[in-house]
Amino acid sequence: MYSTHRIFKRQRLLLWLSILLAMGFFATTLSSYYVSKQAILNAIVAQELPLTSSNVYSEIQKDLVRPVLISSTMAHDTFLRDWVLGGEHNVDAMARYLREIKARYGAFSSFFVSDRSARYYTGEGILKQVAPQAPRDVWYYRVRAMPEPYEINVDADLANRDALTIFVNYRVFDFDGRFLGATGVGLTVDAVRHLISSYQQRFQRTIYFVDAHGKTVLFGNQSGRQETDLRAIPGLRDLVDRILREKSGSYQFRDASGLHLLNVNYVPELKWYLFVEKRADAALADIRQTLYVNLAVCLGITLLVLFLTHVALARYQRRIEDMAATDKLTGLLNRQAFSILIDKVFAEYRRNPQPISVLLVDVDHFKSINDRFGHAGGDRILRQIAASLQESLRASDIAIRWGGEEFLIVLKGSALEQAQHVAEQLRLKIEQAQFSAAAQPVSVTLSIGVSQYDGTESCEELIGRADAALYAAKNGGRNRVCAESFF
Ligand code: GH3
Ligand code: MG
Ligand code: MG
Repeated sequence: MYSTHRIFKRQRLLLWLSILLAMGFFATTLSSYYVSKQAILNAIVAQELPLTSSNVYSEIQKDLVRPVLISSTMAHDTFLRDWVLGGEHNVDAMARYLREIKARYGAFSSFFVSDRSARYYTGEGILKQVAPQAPRDVWYYRVRAMPEPYEINVDADLANRDALTIFVNYRVFDFDGRFLGATGVGLTVDAVRHLISSYQQRFQRTIYFVDAHGKTVLFGNQSGRQETDLRAIPGLRDLVDRILREKSGSYQFRDASGLHLLNVNYVPELKWYLFVEKRADAALADIRQTLYVNLAVCLGITLLVLFLTHVALARYQRRIEDMAATDKLTGLLNRQAFSILIDKVFAEYRRNPQPISVLLVDVDHFKSINDRFGHAGGDRILRQIAASLQESLRASDIAIRWGGEEFLIVLKGSALEQAQHVAEQLRLKIEQAQFSAAAQPVSVTLSIGVSQYDGTESCEELIGRADAALYAAKNGGRNRVCAESFF
């Protein structure tokens, strides 16, 4: 009541405190989150993905070395060359040779294409005739024309129900260096696919190969990219050309499932690009969880601190207000409290004009009481008078210790006549009461001046008129009530 401005101030203080606390907490929590997030992303881009990429790359190279050696052995085999130079008569002998190679080295397929007869031999015999205009035989005429001794080519295998196969195509020459044809083995990509799958599962990343047109050619068994065209993937679409041009590097892109980190390496042996991809969200899930927990803890601490501060402030404020508002000796309100209260009383009056009267009370000949019983005895009497006055008033009335042995009483809802009546009651009560000081009965009388608020005057004017009435009461012989009417 008496201190709405202080309550307002307290709320402002709490508001500022909570803003400061929250800002401090959230700033440190968020900044540490972003620092760890950046560290994790950097580690993925700079270490994890390149490491996986080079692991997969070296595994694949290792897997390719053996077939290259086998094909080289075949290309330099004297039986094969003698058989071709001898006129390719016994097809069974060639088929048995190719079967033997295939079984011995666990190849997926083995072949020889003769340049002279254009026959394509496998372990089963003659598969077909190759022809320059047949799209499926383009590889042979490429190998025939190339300067290198061999190539690695990924193609569908006609001899094995078009399964995707990595072929080592080795050029064969006779003992005088004349070109005889191409031989080699085919190797299923299942092994590579299996490798990719196991990497994907172990490290939660997506691994796939992409050809020069931006089409995926080889990916893991499950949970990998199944789309065949990278340009069909939102986010990656705009990057494809740049990646193919740059051949290797680190990239980021976003799609519906979030941020993806990507490492690309060109594999010249296969003429493919090795893509290793990781979803950042999966890697950040842990620290994001930590972030939410931290934020919740911060919120909890902020609320707790606010609550405790609120309780402590309220308690202190009440104590300070009580201390500031009451008179130590009598326990009545003091003048300072009155100055705030009376504003409220006047404001109330403006909203709802009910008569207000004041009584200014002065103890008669109090000096002589002090003289008889000493200052401490006077104080005891004052305390008893105050208590006696207080207990005769209604809850809505306000009693103030106005000065030394003077009291001011505000009666709300009482017009002058009624107030005079109350004053008379008080006067009688005190006159008849027995007070005590130093174990002696003491009688006391009061003089009381009464005035009614005229609705416009100031507080000083109202009390000034009561003081004038009090003066009249004193002059009239004391122990009496006088009223100062404004009419
Ligand atoms: P009257 O009012 O009837 O004219 O005579 P009075 O003797 O009461 O005169 P006045 O009101 O002028 O003086 C008040 C006296 O009360 C003066 C002072 O010594 C005494 N007094 C004021 N405050 C206190 C107090 O807190 N304790 C005690 N014991 N005495 C006080
Ligand atoms: Mg006095
Ligand atoms: Mg007096």
